[in-house]
Amino acid sequence: MMPSTPSPVTPLIDRFGRQVTYVRFSVTDRCDLRCVYCMAERMTFMPHARILTLEELATLGRVFVELGVRKIRLTGGEPLVRRNVLWLFRELGRLREHGLSELVMTTNGSQLERLAGDLKSAGVARVNISLDSLDPARFRRMTRVGTLETVLRGIHAARAAGFARVKLNVVVLKDCNHDEVTALARFAVEHDLDISYIEEMPLGVMGEHDRARFYYPSDAIRADLAQTFSLVATAENSGGPARYYRIPGTTTRVGFISPHSHNFCADCNRVRVSAEGRLLLCLGQEHSVDLRHVLRAHPGNAERLRQSIISALQLKPQGHDFQLSGQPRILRYMNQTGG
Ligand code: SAM
Ligand code: SF4
Repeated sequence: MMPSTPSPVTPLIDRFGRQVTYVRFSVTDRCDLRCVYCMAERMTFMPHARILTLEELATLGRVFVELGVRKIRLTGGEPLVRRNVLWLFRELGRLREHGLSELVMTTNGSQLERLAGDLKSAGVARVNISLDSLDPARFRRMTRVGTLETVLRGIHAARAAGFARVKLNVVVLKDCNHDEVTALARFAVEHDLDISYIEEMPLGVMGEHDRARFYYPSDAIRADLAQTFSLVATAENSGGPARYYRIPGTTTRVGFISPHSHNFCADCNRVRVSAEGRLLLCLGQEHSVDLRHVLRAHPGNAERLRQSIISALQLKPQGHDFQLSGQPRILRYMNQTGG
């Protein structure tokens, strides 16, 4: 374990006065699904030597918490396909005694039936589970290889393991699954889940998949839902990009993540670490610092790592620059980024 010298907490504040208190780690770029908006048809994955080790990720977690980070999300790729990933969850779970408020994860749910109980014991507070369709054939089309039933069993396992406020993430594509937004909300209400609808973000070159063609704005989703549910805006904010609503008479919160139609950058409180250890200062820009190099060139030097992260914050751009049409400006795919 890397010895860490106590140092005064230097809050991670960027040039625009935004404090970073939330970090997402992409623990692998690999996945057992191949969602059409996330990966190209033929994806190649990074060799293991280029991916941060679990120990390196644990070290990063400790240093970020020392720098005032209060929430860590493990994501990917699919975090639960990484071998021994429970070890990392347990290590990060221990940081709750040192200032971490929330350890959370995003998963496609395919491994949850097996792992939900262990994740709860490791200290994971909440899980977000991706679910784009309740129709098995459509689910298969959107994930290219996935089986709906497996994910539904994963969702039930998460509830049974005692996770509070399990949230579904739905990427909505026009003429693909936009006609299911109400059915998915009904499913969320029936199972006491939260649900967030996400506008597709242009990351990575997708070949046949034309993102402008599939764009379905959050306001259209809200209008669709309003035909069945009344949505009451809440002041709640997870310090993130979502705008939240409640459905009266239910426990369900409905969120909208709208990078195209409602820019959320002014309140950004987060950074990401890619599977290969690049500290990405913005989802939709390439400003980054190679933390893997710092970790490997200066092993055991926590102070060096702290200083690299603190100075990297000065590179955080004001906002993303997503454009729906034409070639995407960001060539890295979402699975490499840590969505
Ligand atoms: N494999 C896990 C999963 O699917 O939940 C975690 C990683 S995945 C990259 C994290 C989230 O990003 C998922 O909710 C997924 O639907 C979303 N996502 C992937 N590609 C996206 C894109 N191009 N635009 C918007 N959201 C995307
Ligand atoms: Fe895998 Fe998640 Fe990307 Fe789908 S969205 S391909 S499940 S990483």
